Amino acid sequence: MRNISVNNRNNISFKAGLTPSVIKNAVKYSAPRIEQAFQSTYGVNANFGYNHAAAYCCAVVSDIFDFLSKKFNLPFNAKPPNIRIFNDSDLLDMRNAGSLGFCITDSMPVLKGEPVFEARSLFLNGKFNTLKAINDNAEANFNGSKWNSTNHFLHTYIHEWVHNIHDDLLFKTFGYDGYCPMARSRYNSLNGFYYDPNPNVSGIDYIARMHNIKYSPEEKEVIAKEVSRYAAGERIPNLQQEVGGNPFEVVAETVTKKIVDVLDPDTLMPVKNPFYSNGKDDKIFQDIFNRAWYGIIGG
Ligand SMILES: [Zn+2]
Repeated sequence: MRNISVNNRNNISFKAGLTPSVIKNAVKYSAPRIEQAFQSTYGVNANFGYNHAAAYCCAVVSDIFDFLSKKFNLPFNAKPPNIRIFNDSDLLDMRNAGSLGFCITDSMPVLKGEPVFEARSLFLNGKFNTLKAINDNAEANFNGSKWNSTNHFLHTYIHEWVHNIHDDLLFKTFGYDGYCPMARSRYNSLNGFYYDPNPNVSGIDYIARMHNIKYSPEEKEVIAKEVSRYAAGERIPNLQQEVGGNPFEVVAETVTKKIVDVLDPDTLMPVKNPFYSNGKDDKIFQDIFNRAWYGIIGG
């Protein structure tokens, strides 16, 4: 994706936030060209609905994960099968209304009048359609509240991408035994024969159980301190239910923070291995993260 998405990237500078010249440059990134490149390079079916800012963010994030895979041999190759922009009124399940974005774990219908989307498809809220709106929102979700783990404008895009990578890893480990033929052929085909990498466990049930894991008050405290309040799972004032606070959000918020911490502000590419911590990580948190990443239930 580099050569298409990069355009003027080397000439612009994303420091702490967005500069006026960056906002001016944003119009140069064309969503249709990025869609084309996603299709031809990775077979990713992207439809950004002319949301150039979201398309640009996704192209940069795809580049970041390619770089981390190649340079540090990290298991970050998985691309989402679909990337779509949504408006709240398009959604079949209003629980996702107002969210910045979401990634579906199993195949399901998501948008009104559209067929089923394959597992790991990404959906991004269309109301954030300029880099300034994206940046302001990222700042608002961090400053003071530390609700998210970073204030970077790429936060949501990296976070959702991590869900796609994590689900891919879990399906490869535990198998996909849901109903989606596309996902079945992606995860359970070996030389044309059906196989299940882990026949003793139903991958879909296993992942559903992971979603229901609740952290203890002590664990929540560590997660909130080391990563974010969303990762820890908290009730927010205008919402009845508690949000976040499961192994998937711990993984997405942690990996996002680690990556943002090593991004060069000018090139937006990592300058070192984000997981090289020099033994500085909190040991209890490290254990929580490892269990979440590898899908270890209990322990
Ligand atoms: Zn998430």
